[in-house]
Amino acid sequence: MNPQDAWKMAFSQLELQFDRATFDTWLRDAVFLRCEEGVFVVGVGNSYARDMLEHRLYKNIWRVLSDVCGYSVQLRFEVHKPEPVAKKKKEDMPLFRLLAEQDSDTPSIPLHQQVMRPKLPDLPESELNPRYTFERFVVSAANRMVYEAARAVSERPTIYNPFFVYGGVGLGKTHALQAIAHALRNKGQRVIYISSEVFTNDLIDAIRQRTTAMFRDKYRSVDALLVDDIQFIAGKESTQEEFFHTFNTLYTFNKQIVLASDRHPSQLEPLADRLRSRFEGGLVVDIQPPEYETRLAIIEMWSRERGIRLAPQVAPMIADRVQNNVRELEGIFNRIAAETQLGFTSVTRTAAETTLNHYESPRQHIITVAQVVEAAARHFGIRASDLTGSNRSQRINQARQVAIFLARDITGVSFPQIGAVFGKRSHTTMLHAYNKICEEISGETPLRETVEKIRAALVK
Ligand code: ADP
Ligand code: MG
Repeated sequence: MNPQDAWKMAFSQLELQFDRATFDTWLRDAVFLRCEEGVFVVGVGNSYARDMLEHRLYKNIWRVLSDVCGYSVQLRFEVHKPEPVAKKKKEDMPLFRLLAEQDSDTPSIPLHQQVMRPKLPDLPESELNPRYTFERFVVSAANRMVYEAARAVSERPTIYNPFFVYGGVGLGKTHALQAIAHALRNKGQRVIYISSEVFTNDLIDAIRQRTTAMFRDKYRSVDALLVDDIQFIAGKESTQEEFFHTFNTLYTFNKQIVLASDRHPSQLEPLADRLRSRFEGGLVVDIQPPEYETRLAIIEMWSRERGIRLAPQVAPMIADRVQNNVRELEGIFNRIAAETQLGFTSVTRTAAETTLNHYESPRQHIITVAQVVEAAARHFGIRASDLTGSNRSQRINQARQVAIFLARDITGVSFPQIGAVFGKRSHTTMLHAYNKICEEISGETPLRETVEKIRAALVK
């Protein structure tokens, strides 16, 4: 069979395999272009479709085509502009075409109206952690620049635009971004705080559900857009494309943009140069691991907040143990606090030492979200699939929230990624569960005991 026919046959099988929406949106207009040194080259309308086919749908397509050919084929997608034909009515057009058109045509809504729209779109991704405020951010030489700039941006938005924060894991980038979000929101500004992963997922959903206009409305009509973990847009061309336009619109209309990343813009690879130069065009500041005194001050703040008394040498001992990651410091602190609160009124040196000794070795092996789910299921006497599934009974629901809390607390994996394990639940749902359990275990409650038992089983 010649390659063209093989593609045709595979194509009709794929039409049966995929659901209608997926097929129509992503594959309907794919055309066989050529066979190049044995590689099938398939043309698609634009880079959104290409990314989708290459990343999400690749395996299925490859399998069907390989079956048809009787050998393991090689397959590649490329953007291919068909000969111009008389314009179709827009409603009849597959979405990615429409999207491409929207990009090239003069936009139907003038830019200034895109920004000035009076309607307030929902901003569900912007649920903030109430604990990430400026008041709870301990300032030191390591983070002073970030703190001062963040304060300045909150008081006089766009004084630095964009404001780009970068630094290692667990050093307070998210905390700083959300502190800005809280402050701006308290002034009545419309703020979206979002991770770049959620932005990407949102974009993909919008393309699928044909709601890109709403998507754009949402992100381009805010007073401030804060995007966390922007490093994840590296290599994602269509997200970069969309983000570039979002960035420009906001920037042009003097709206604040704040970005956080685990590395300097010059180290983000692969990233379109035009985005890189924009990231570097504002204020770029790094955040360093806190010095010993700062770690002490942070620990003292935590014990004060929770009414936990530490024997004199305990805080220094903890501060000594973890040097480069405040999240990990918090993990150890929580553990020590939890174990103590179960039985005693203050943390003795011996108790803290025992916990610290206990803590060291388990950190050697990395605990995964799946392991947390397993351990929680075992504890509650249910199946792991009950936790990740859709059962909403009160008992399962609470067990699920506990598992989500522990997944985040122990692994530090992002909410969108945890959400993916829990049956594709949203990032907001994860955050909600996390905050809820945080609150419910802040006193000496039976739930706290449950949480710590599961944690102990995992890290032993
Ligand atoms: P990152 O986003 O850089 O990975 P986070 O902002 O999530 O780090 O910080 C991890 C934890 O450490 C959070 O609970 C945060 O509140 C805490 N933290 C980090 N830096 C500070 C600081 N300077 N003062 C108080 N808490 C901090
Ligand atoms: Mg972060």
